[in-house]
Amino acid sequence: MNESKMDLNRELMVDGNAVAGLLQEIFAIEMTATPTECANCGNAAEVGALQAYTQAPGAVLRCPACESVMIRIVQTPNHIYFDARGAVRLTLPREKK
Ligand SMILES: [Zn+2]
Repeated sequence: MNESKMDLNRELMVDGNAVAGLLQEIFAIEMTATPTECANCGNAAEVGALQAYTQAPGAVLRCPACESVMIRIVQTPNHIYFDARGAVRLTLPREKK
């Protein structure tokens, strides 16, 4: 990737907090503090610390260490497609009773 393309990508990047509302719609809980791990490099981070790209047909969350795609979310009128194959896991808190 050349330098100017890299700069453009950085300009479009926000952090994972930008998709907090979308994640809350999917999981029905606050997700930004959720621990996750990159399947490519093993970096551990909270969802809110991932690099978020939202200027696409869907939202893309990338690893802040190696920039691999960890999570893709695409919404259509009838469905939400959630692809987390780039994440080893998402650790969701259980509701306290
Ligand atoms: Zn990584």
